[in-house]
Amino acid sequence: MARSVLTGGSGFLGNHLARALLASGDEVVVVDDYSTGSPVNLADLADEPRLTVVEHDVSTGLPVDGPVDAVLHFASAASPPAYLARPLETLAVGSEGTRHALELARAHGARFLLASTSEIYGDPTVHPQPEGYWGNVNSVGPRSVYDEAKRFAEAITMAYHRTFGLDTKIARIFNTYGPRMAPGDGRVVTNFIEQALAGSPLTVYGDGSQTRSFCWVDDEVRGFLALLHSDWIGPMNIGNPGECTVLELAEIVREVSGVDVPIELAPLPADDPTRRRPDITLAREVLGWAPEVDLRSGVTRLVEWYRAERVPTA
Ligand code: UDP
Repeated sequence: MARSVLTGGSGFLGNHLARALLASGDEVVVVDDYSTGSPVNLADLADEPRLTVVEHDVSTGLPVDGPVDAVLHFASAASPPAYLARPLETLAVGSEGTRHALELARAHGARFLLASTSEIYGDPTVHPQPEGYWGNVNSVGPRSVYDEAKRFAEAITMAYHRTFGLDTKIARIFNTYGPRMAPGDGRVVTNFIEQALAGSPLTVYGDGSQTRSFCWVDDEVRGFLALLHSDWIGPMNIGNPGECTVLELAEIVREVSGVDVPIELAPLPADDPTRRRPDITLAREVLGWAPEVDLRSGVTRLVEWYRAERVPTA
């Protein structure tokens, strides 16, 4: 049995990953300060003896005793409204937080997995984006607090590998959606579903022609575990290459929910990338991994989940 330390384990991706690690037989230590995650996300596992939850801000240290076989660093705000509201905290958790997580891995000779992001590629001039593309990021724009924090996190992760021989993996995560994203999180799939189920207009930013490639959370987490247990060192795209415009997504949500709400155009946020799609050749070849759930099926499952869990049935 391995003992894994998971920062950000009470967040959206983190709680799904914690569950997958437990299901694989691991003991899991979650470290989370609940700045964007919530204890509610793991509340049903309160009696699980292989799960420990420590409330702590990883930017200030990582106080974990006992053996450590793997460190998975997932602590960070991830939704644009959340990281724009916490610019300094986002930079701190991506820089100091990553250094603390790497130090813990180094002290134990443990594997290290960094949750990185497609934002590494910024507003990409190469499409789709392979890992070898260096990106097009505005280093002083509002989004830079997230993008540059993650770019620093990748740099220090590779420096620990080169300096100390640490076994380091970097998952570049593309837009992911699924149950237990925070209510009001602000990302587009859950915004549209929450709006449709409330009978409110769907807020499309800009003209809705920008694209994203959305991955169902279970596919994403399966990719993380495959990467963690592989011999790969360095970055790997983990995402679903099925690309669609924001307007197409709005249409899918309307159809799947069966709620005929209007679309309301709103201003495009600064530096919003115009297109994004992962090249997953590497993950296919090295891990034998590919996503299985297409967007319409995933949105259908998520609308069902919302209807069962989040919408009062009165
Ligand atoms: N977006 C939108 N309406 C919303 C929320 C987001 O049109 O209510 C757009 C946003 O401008 C971006 C895309 O949807 O082009 C994805 O946004 P999200 O915040 O989910 O993630 P991002 O990829 O920007 O980090």
